[in-house]
Amino acid sequence: GYAVPPPTSQPNYSSTYTIIQQPATTTSVVVVGGCPACRVGVLEDTFTCLGVLCAIVFFPIGILFCLALRQRRCPNCGAAFG
Ligand SMILES: [Zn+2]
Repeated sequence: GYAVPPPTSQPNYSSTYTIIQQPATTTSVVVVGGCPACRVGVLEDTFTCLGVLCAIVFFPIGILFCLALRQRRCPNCGAAFG
């Protein structure tokens, strides 16, 4: 007998799927006023209750305390920064 070569019936389709992976746009540039925690939200100046209370009680000097005690809060993740 003689060896029968194995049937090479495999399709020769070059099925090359080019999976396009879009790189995550991790912008390392810190946006001015942006939240450093989530980098999505924009920090907003909010007056703390203590600051507002000082502004009322120690008016008008309390206004300075109110301005000094304000903190920057992120509306997205809720992180507050002094
Ligand atoms: Zn945030």
